Amino acid sequence: MKAAVLEEIGRIEIKDIEKPKPGQGEVLIKLEYVGICGSDVHYFEHGRIGDFIVEEPLILGHECSGTIVEVGSGVEGFSLGDRVVPEPGYACNKCGYCKSGRYNLCEKMTFMATPPVDGAFCEYVTYPADMTFKLPDNVTLENGALIEPLAIGIYAAERGKVFPGSRVLVQGAGCIGLVTVLACKAYGASEVILTDVLDNRLETGKRLGADSTINVTKENMGTDFEPVDIVIDCVGIETTVNNSIDHVKRGGMIVLVGMGSDGNIPVNLNRAISKEIDFATIFRYRNIFPKAIKMVSDGKIDIGGIVTHTFDFDEIEDAMKFVMKNKETVVKAVVKI
Ligand SMILES: [Zn+2]
Ligand SMILES: [Zn+2]
Repeated sequence: MKAAVLEEIGRIEIKDIEKPKPGQGEVLIKLEYVGICGSDVHYFEHGRIGDFIVEEPLILGHECSGTIVEVGSGVEGFSLGDRVVPEPGYACNKCGYCKSGRYNLCEKMTFMATPPVDGAFCEYVTYPADMTFKLPDNVTLENGALIEPLAIGIYAAERGKVFPGSRVLVQGAGCIGLVTVLACKAYGASEVILTDVLDNRLETGKRLGADSTINVTKENMGTDFEPVDIVIDCVGIETTVNNSIDHVKRGGMIVLVGMGSDGNIPVNLNRAISKEIDFATIFRYRNIFPKAIKMVSDGKIDIGGIVTHTFDFDEIEDAMKFVMKNKETVVKAVVKI
């Protein structure tokens, strides 16, 4: 089968490698669409994210959808031709975190396209059937590849306890900020205010349902901004974290989603304490894929609107470079396998 292999920083080669065989409990998925994530571009550009370092050639890509072409022994409930989305992280299913349902915190988690685990920029992957989810007929395979980023937005909204009538400030209008807007609206937020430094991203945010937008380079949020119930920070730098503390209501909730390049940032904690603010963080997601798929299928979330660019499989290296150089205009690029 063909696979796009990251051979070294900035170089992806399409190679012929052995097609995998599904083992016990696994399905073989013929991939159709794979999204390009910020993390894929980061590995392509820098060869590492924090402590995760690419030391061997690696197949990137983890936002994927495809069809079942083979089922391993012991697999029930799947047939050939089923359209599916694999959840890209697989946990040990044995530790205390896994047993309590918080499997995203499992220390033995293997995650697609996180070194040394290969991802989905290739023709076929095998995947455990119990973490593979069927798409209803009315959800396209292209939208299936967007379930992974959407899951992060939904999880952020859940951790923030967004409820009908909430006023929410979302900081950062990149892909994750935008899916967070979609999730907050779907969870009934009466008002979602979106901030960023780029007008074109804020335009996209408006198109996807943000009630108002603020370009923080042009407009000072100042003292007349009416504090919100919940702030979801999809940036994670000194300004945004302190903005979160300043602009959340007393007794409000702040969800930290974005990781800035440096985690050591000065934060006015005394101000947070005197406002009795609750903080939550999220790491990936857990138990979200089935409901994300259902929300898309039920029409509660129109996820297709985040795709701005589509590339062919043979163009992956150029696609990565394009995304790298056009971070301002690309919301989500998708590769058609
Ligand atoms: Zn991703
Ligand atoms: Zn575990």
